[in-house]
Amino acid sequence: MSTPLTIALSKGRIYKDSLPLLKHAGIEPVDDPETSRKLILDTTLEDVKLVIIRTTDVPTYVQYGAADLGVAGKDVLMEHGGEGLYEPLDLKIARCRMMTAGPVDAPPLRGRLRIATKYVNSARRYFAEKGQQVEIIKLYGSMELAPLVGLADQIVDLVDTGNTLKANGLVPLEHMADISSRLIINKAAMKMKHQSVKAFIDRMAEAVARS
Ligand code: AMP
Repeated sequence: MSTPLTIALSKGRIYKDSLPLLKHAGIEPVDDPETSRKLILDTTLEDVKLVIIRTTDVPTYVQYGAADLGVAGKDVLMEHGGEGLYEPLDLKIARCRMMTAGPVDAPPLRGRLRIATKYVNSARRYFAEKGQQVEIIKLYGSMELAPLVGLADQIVDLVDTGNTLKANGLVPLEHMADISSRLIINKAAMKMKHQSVKAFIDRMAEAVARS
């Protein structure tokens, strides 16, 4: 019998883009999380289960060993900090950039720059490294609104095509990081289930190289 493995994934872009890579590793979900309400999905491999959770919860599940492995965006990992995790493989999916952005015609700044973002740790680190004093305002979504209503001078958000910024009269300013999804592994699982985990990483690496 092979070792049971639990893989944490989030719905949407990461799930969709992970599917072909998982298929190469011989893993296909039996249910579709977009239509099923199940949170634990069986796969074509009897001992491999998928748990479908929020993107920001994926590192936490893997850190505590509730899942052996997971797929998480670098943006989420930068916020989480990576404790208890290995990050052995860039899956090169869900790629975008983390950027600062502000209004097209921003008035000259008076006082300290106010940044609205859900990426508070990444923003704090970035501006601290630049030696710039900023006030960070934590939001959970629709960051683009903040400069339009005077809540913040700028935002930190993910940018792909730039259409969302443009539609809200904002322009990308500073490139903070390139983002893509990463395979993450629970540190204990890497030791205890080494053979299965290593075989899975190798198959995924092959799939990434082919894609
Ligand atoms: P866009 O309009 O194509 O620049 O996309 C920007 C919007 O999509 C923002 O709300 C981002 O938070 C979100 N977004 C873009 N790329 C990603 C990604 N790889 N992962 C998660 N959210 C993303």
